[in-house]
This record gives sequence, C-alpha cells and structure tokens, in this order.
Amino acid sequence: MKEWEKQLNNFVNTLEELEKFINITDDEREAILTLNTKWGTTPYFASLMDADDPNCPIRRQVIPSLGENKNVYGLDNYLVWKENRDTEESRPDCIARQYKDRVAFTVIDVCGIYCRHCFRKELVVDQDLSLRFDVDEGIKWIKEHDEVRDVLVTGGDPFLLSDEKIAYIISELRKIEHVEMIRFGTRTPIVMPQRITEDLMNVLKGYHRVPIWINTQCNHPKEITEETAKAVYKLMECGINVGNQAVLLKGINDDIDTFKRLHQKLLSIRIKPYYVFYCEPAPGIDHFRTPVEKGAELIRDALRGHTTGLAQPMYVVATNIGKIPLMPNYYFVDKDDENYTLMNHRGERTQLPNIKE
Ligand SMILES: *Cc1c(COP(=O)(O)O)cnc(C)c1O
Ligand code: SF4
Repeated sequence: MKEWEKQLNNFVNTLEELEKFINITDDEREAILTLNTKWGTTPYFASLMDADDPNCPIRRQVIPSLGENKNVYGLDNYLVWKENRDTEESRPDCIARQYKDRVAFTVIDVCGIYCRHCFRKELVVDQDLSLRFDVDEGIKWIKEHDEVRDVLVTGGDPFLLSDEKIAYIISELRKIEHVEMIRFGTRTPIVMPQRITEDLMNVLKGYHRVPIWINTQCNHPKEITEETAKAVYKLMECGINVGNQAVLLKGINDDIDTFKRLHQKLLSIRIKPYYVFYCEPAPGIDHFRTPVEKGAELIRDALRGHTTGLAQPMYVVATNIGKIPLMPNYYFVDKDDENYTLMNHRGERTQLPNIKE
C-alpha cells in the first residue's frame, strides 16, 4: 500500500483516534457526539494540530464545533442556489455553471479533510444533498458545449481518485477540441502531500496543448510544511502551476500578522496566492464569518505595499452570479478637472493628470 492510501485508511475520524493527537475539550467532545456530520482528516494533517490549544487554526478547521448548530445568516439549500442548479438549462448534476466559457466539474464527494467551513457542506460534509457524479455524463455534456474552454475539476477532492481515474479524466478532456485548459481544485498538497507520488507525476507530466493548473486551499501558515513544499515542487516539475484559494476565517486568519505570514509563506514554497474568499453564507458556518469588508481591509493593511507584489491574492465574494472582487477603494482619493489624487499604503498622496477621452 502506498503512503497516501495508508493516510486514508488511518483517517482520523473517531474520538479514539483524535485522542492520540490532542487533548479533546468537553465542547469538542459534545460537538462530535451530537452533531450528525462527517468529519476528520489524515493522520499527517492531524499531527499538525496543537494538542492543548482548542483555538489552534488547524484544529478549528478539522474538529466539529457546537457553533455549527447556530444558523442565523446561512441560507437553506445554499448550494442549489449558489451553483444555479435550479435554472432552465439542463445539465448533469456534476456540472455547475456560472460563466459562459468555464464550468466546475464535480467528480467525487470525498475529501482528505472535511473542512468545518466548507461552502459545499450540505453536499460534502453534512450530506443532506445528494447528487450524482457521473464522470462520463459530465464529459459528454462538455463535448456538446463548444463554448466551454476551461474545465475546473473539483469535488470533494479529485486527487482522492485513483491515478487511473485521474488519467482517464485528463485524457478524455484533452480529446475535446474546444477544451483549452484543465484545472484541478485539490487540498491534497496541504492535507495529504503524500498523494503527489511518482505514479501520479507520470499521469500529470508531459507537454500537451491543454495545460493543467492546480489550485489548493491553505488558510494558515501553520499548514505549510517541508512535505507540502516538496509536493508543490513535484507538481511544478510536471509543468503545473500551483495557486492558492484561501478562505477568510474569523479567529484563524483574519488578523494582519497571520494574513501577511500566510501569503509570504505560500510564495516561499512556490504557491501563488490566487484568491481569498469571503466565507460564504452556507448553513452552520456563521462562527467563521467576518464582515464583508474584512478581506479588502486585510489586503490594504497587510499586503498591498507591505510585502511582495506576487503575494497579493484577489479578494472575492463567490455568489450565484459569479465571483465578485472587492477592493478597498481608499487608493482613489479624489478627481477634479485637472488631476486624480491617489494614495499609497503609507497614506502618502500623489497626483496623476486627468486625461479626457
Ligand atoms: C469559481 C468557479 C469557476 C472559476 O472561476 P475563476 O474566477 O475563473 O477561477 C467556474 N465556475 C464555477 C461554477 C465556479 O464556482
Ligand atoms: S477539501 Fe474542499 S470540498 Fe472538501 S470539505 Fe474542504 S473545502 Fe469542502
């Protein structure tokens, strides 16, 4: 058995297993025993948890919380609304669509961590929503839609599929002439870096007209280890760029210092910050949500001008009508007939001539 298969076989999803890693609090125990929810992660990721700090950023992403019982702002049937599953266009369950030229193609509903903040919680974690994920049905639909040039393969976590299944998806998509790029969304580089094996590299590598891109999800600098750094390097050896899609999480990464260190550390292991997402209004995750402005303020106060330009993600709110970027508009101070007045991260001002159309 390969190391990654052992990681999945020894999944930490019982109190007994969890106790080997941390001192479980009464609240955590109660949440685990009373919430009817799927939870757990790999022993590798569990070993990064702080044994004695219930506020450990990894622990909070892994272990159910009683906060999940409270739901003031979350929307019922969130995913059906968010992924436009109720529209007149007929699509297989595995295809979610918000844009003309690209779709999200869900191929699996299992993960290497059942993130407590997951926006697909109803499907992946709580399993109140059941959908059919038929890869061949999805491929057939994509074949019939020649306006789709970018396919985002997602889940769950598509890298929990076998090498053969991943190879099959890639080769079928590459046969479609109008498909110009394939993207995988996978948390494995963070929660199970052992997944990036020589065999998987053989599936991914090699020049082809249709490139593969990967986005992972890392929310806190503590999630980044030497193993992750090496896994990312191996993916790059396969000609794949790795980006990050972080989720803004209250008490985990919503302070200036953590937010800056996260983005700097990602670059130090060759991951390009792509998006920071506002924590979506899925049900039962109110306790992770910040005010909407928070992400834009953090980019202003922690990143833009304060550190390397490459470390800048775009802050977006993912909605049913697509992702909407939010920028703090403080950079723009004023405009008159002659000049624009702009401001930088230190509050200094400068002017630019107002050139009319
Ligand atoms: C996020 C998403 C995409 C990809 O959006 P990009 O901004 O291109 O990364 C495509 N389709 C759906 C349904 C999505 O949710
Ligand atoms: S890995 Fe992704 S799909 Fe799976 S639980 Fe976490 S956020 Fe949700």
